[in-house]
Amino acid sequence: MDVYKLRPEDAGSRRIEREDFEAQTLRDKPWYQKNGQGEDVQYAVCPACDNPIQIIGLYRLLERIHQPFGRHTGAAIRGLAELDPEERDNCPYFKPRPREKRARRKGLNPVSRKILGTLIEQFDRVVYLLRKQTGINFSQKLLRKMLETYRAERGYLYTGATLLNIPWVFAYMSDSQPIVGQYLRKDADADLMRAIRDMVPGVHISDGGQIGRKTKNFLSLAVCFIHHRESKDREDGRLVESMKMVVSMDADHWVHQKVIPFDHQEFQRLTHIPDEKARRQMDLVEMAKEVLGDLLL
Ligand SMILES: [Zn+2]
Repeated sequence: MDVYKLRPEDAGSRRIEREDFEAQTLRDKPWYQKNGQGEDVQYAVCPACDNPIQIIGLYRLLERIHQPFGRHTGAAIRGLAELDPEERDNCPYFKPRPREKRARRKGLNPVSRKILGTLIEQFDRVVYLLRKQTGINFSQKLLRKMLETYRAERGYLYTGATLLNIPWVFAYMSDSQPIVGQYLRKDADADLMRAIRDMVPGVHISDGGQIGRKTKNFLSLAVCFIHHRESKDREDGRLVESMKMVVSMDADHWVHQKVIPFDHQEFQRLTHIPDEKARRQMDLVEMAKEVLGDLLL
């Protein structure tokens, strides 16, 4: 992997680069240790699963390797991080793989608790990202339904849910939701608006972007997210994740589809904005707490 963090309790990730790593750790314990052979080895923490990792090639690159990288260790690292084998085995950096959407962790553990806690605390950022990436201004009412579905689905236990992909797995686990009455954003994909106009009989999109009905007839239009994909770049160990957004009238009548890349860095940037500069929407955070908060008690 190409990223690390210093401690399990940290949020986000940093790119593995020698100068930055030295500045962050000051070449001190627990990140710099001697192994059984008396050689210097460097350790850090996987930002996706909180397990210890060893940093390889920071001082001596291996043949055909151009960048230092991180690799999960097989044991706990003293003073740094415990080993959680279930989380390590699930980690996309440990083994990227096709996931079964129904696959769940055995139960609430430290990582899934942290996923839930972050989803609640950062829910306004999650919503901001989803609105921007989908072009749909999910209303508060719809967002509450999505939270309830996520809860019923136990989305925080999905084995593909990590500490880095919280906004997207939230959407992924919210199943199919009706979007008649929702507003399309001004910066929404022109293809999305055109597809709805051209392909959905009886639809009317107002000047303000609201999706409505021309007549009293029932109109069915929904959005859902499918095909969570993850892969690791062979060259630099970067994790690439995406899902597909589908707008449809029913299972046989797709109106629009689009691949949504998981922008881990952008989520991290948003969550690291200092409080005095942040424009938070605490009503959204409160709502997430109402729906999910008791799971953490
Ligand atoms: Zn990991």
